[in-house]
Order: sequence, then structure tokens, then C-alpha cells
Amino acid sequence: MPFVKTYWIFFCIAIHVTSSQTVEDKVTYNGSQVWQVELQGAEDMAYIQKLHDNKDISIWTLTPTRADFLVPDRLKLKVHRRLVAKHLNHTVLILDVQRRIDLNTQQVVPALWTENALRDGHRLSWKKFPTLDIIEEYYNFLAEDYSSLCRVQTIGYTAENRTIKMINITDGNPKNKIILITGGSHAREWVSVTSALYILNNIVTKFDTQSSYIKNKNWLIIPVLNPDGYVYTHTVDRLWRKNRRNFKRCKGVDINRNFDSDWGIVGIKESDECKITYSGPYAFSERETKALRHLVGSSVRKPVAMLDLHSYGNLILFPWSARTQPTEDYNKHVEVAELMRSAIFKSSKENYTYGATYHKIYPATGTFLDWAYSKGVVHSYVIEIKDKGKLGFLIPPKEIEDTGKELFAAARSLAKYVNHHKRQIESKDARKTWF
Ligand SMILES: [Zn+2]
Repeated sequence: MPFVKTYWIFFCIAIHVTSSQTVEDKVTYNGSQVWQVELQGAEDMAYIQKLHDNKDISIWTLTPTRADFLVPDRLKLKVHRRLVAKHLNHTVLILDVQRRIDLNTQQVVPALWTENALRDGHRLSWKKFPTLDIIEEYYNFLAEDYSSLCRVQTIGYTAENRTIKMINITDGNPKNKIILITGGSHAREWVSVTSALYILNNIVTKFDTQSSYIKNKNWLIIPVLNPDGYVYTHTVDRLWRKNRRNFKRCKGVDINRNFDSDWGIVGIKESDECKITYSGPYAFSERETKALRHLVGSSVRKPVAMLDLHSYGNLILFPWSARTQPTEDYNKHVEVAELMRSAIFKSSKENYTYGATYHKIYPATGTFLDWAYSKGVVHSYVIEIKDKGKLGFLIPPKEIEDTGKELFAAARSLAKYVNHHKRQIESKDARKTWF
């Protein structure tokens, strides 16, 4: 049977070629740890940044007073010596990163089609971080069961040809003020995705019992702005941050550095395509940022408020990210940030603090926050969801529901404020071009 043999050999080669092209080995973090170091100012910061640039560590968060970073197993001794030489003491936040990743995925049974799931037609729950497939099942459920209240819209396509989806919720009144909520721009910040989903789920499925200031808004919610990156964090590298666009040497642009607001500032902008905060070859080079430009920049009715969800740090941030001076809306931002802080504290007893990004954490160019504000979205905020530097990006699934509740409390207080300050905001809508 020579024909059969040839056929089988050919078939096997074909499978081999296909799999080697499409399936990447899972990145593992066995023995890697996350350390925290207290810093005293710019010099210490620069030192940590240098360790990062040398690929000795991978920074999770860096402020003038604190750094959290991942240390690969094989470099622990070397990094320890470097820190000692600079008189910097470290504490270990995560003893074994891979073990923490495994724990987070093993704590609950894999998402199966339970009786409830079969009845609803989706498997989304607050007990497990959902894959993109499960999130899309949930969107289909909304489109079918709540078609009179919300629409699932495609606002763009990614480099890997996934759709960027937005849920548009409204009771149909064209005068409703628009509030935009985005999550998942940084792929590994899973709790930003589940929190956006939690807010979305509460508004849609409990619409009739919501306060009037929730019902009289047009909510635009994009839980997964970066679906390529999100899928990659589930399938290959749990700690991936950027999108997955191909460049010569490396992959991915940091979406939240790619907007056209102070994009080119030398010394802040990251031009190296292999760095985790790569700003992209030019402003708005990415499909994800283009989708938001189209949504916010060209719409006649602009959102009056925007919440861009990230993790982590327990922070409420407002513009500017790239400028030292306060905005002309500084007092209003402080007022709303205080309302959100207090709402969160009432909900979960979590302490959040607030400030302008530039001063509160670090300068950043090309952020969605600054760009949205510059386009007339007066109430633009980033919320860096919990925690304060314990498990960081790897907060366990048992935190999903409480975190969702506290973020919904923040969103409610924002919606209420916007209601009461209608006139002020309308007058600001006229401001179209800032720079
Ligand atoms: Zn982020």
C-alpha cells in the first residue's frame, strides 16, 4: 500500500508544520519571585529602571517610593547582590510566581456547562477569570435576552483579526449622557476585565431596579480592549501586557502609550519595540487605539465621563499623565475622585488614593486618559484596581466579585455626579481642540 504510506507521511509533516507555526510553548515562571523595595527618590528609581533595562528584572510597578518587580529564578542571587550594593532591602511578595498562577487557575473547577450555564446560554461567573470565548458567549446572551436594552457592537478588528466589542446600553432616549468604560487594555490586568463585566452585568440585568441616574445614561462598555493580548495571557504568557502586533524583533505595542497626546516626549516615550511600554511606531498606529479614536474623537455626542480600568495600586488617577501642571478641571477631578474613593470604601473598606498620574505615580506619554480629556471628555479617570502590592496582577479569583462591587460603586457615584453637574459639563463640550 505505497499510496497510503506516502499519504500518512505527508499528513504527519503537515500537522507538524502547522502546529510549530501556531502553537507557542507556554511561558512558565517556576521559581520566579516578585519583590518589593522601598525607594527614596529619583536615583533609586533610575537604578531599578536600569536593572529592568538589563533584563535582570521585570518591573510590575515603579514609583518614587516603591518598586515591585519580578525576578527570574536564575537571577535571584545576582539581583539580591545588586540591591545590597545600593543599600536597598527587599521583601518577597510572591514566593513562586508559577505556583501562584497555577493556584489561581486551580482554585475552581474549569468552566463547565452547568445547569445554570445551559439555561442562560453562557458560562460567565464571578468565580473564575473568564476566557475570551466565555466572554463572547456572554455577549451573545446579552444580545439575545436583552436586545431592547443593549446592543453588542464591533468597534474594530485586531492584528490577529479578532473583533473589539463594545456593549451599548441605553433606554433609547437620545438625550442620555454618555459614560464610557474600558477594561483590558493591558492584557495581564484581568481584574479590569471582570470589573467592567460586573458593571455591565449589573446595569443590564438589573436595569429596572437601578437608580434614575444610572438608567438615564447611555453606557458604552468595552470590557476587553485588547483581545489578542488577553487571549495570549490565557494561552501562552500570563504576564503579557501589550497587544500582539508583529514587529521585526519583538511583538506588541502598549496600547495605553499609543494615543496622540504628548506622544513624542523624549525621555518618557519608549521607542524600543521589545520593551513592555513600547509606544508604537507612531501615534494611533494600533487598531485598538484607532477604534477608540473613531469612537470618541469623531462622535458628535461625546462621552461626558470615561473610566479606563487598570490594575493595580488602589488608585484613582486623572490628567495629566505627561505634564507637570494641573489641568483647568483639577478641582472638579479631585471632587469626583473623592466621591469615588468614598463610594469604594463604603462598598469594600478598600482604601484608594487619588491624584494626577504624573505626580501620583509616574509620567506617561500617549495615554488614553490624557487624550480623552484633551478631546473634551472632561471627567476622564483611570482606576488602578486593587491590590496595593501583594499579589498585584495575580489577585485570586475569589476577589472578582467584591472588586466588581466596589468598581460599580465608583461608577454609580460618577454617574450621579454627572447628573447633578449637567450644565457645567455641557458648557465644556464646546471645547474641541486643546492641542
Ligand atoms: Zn494597566
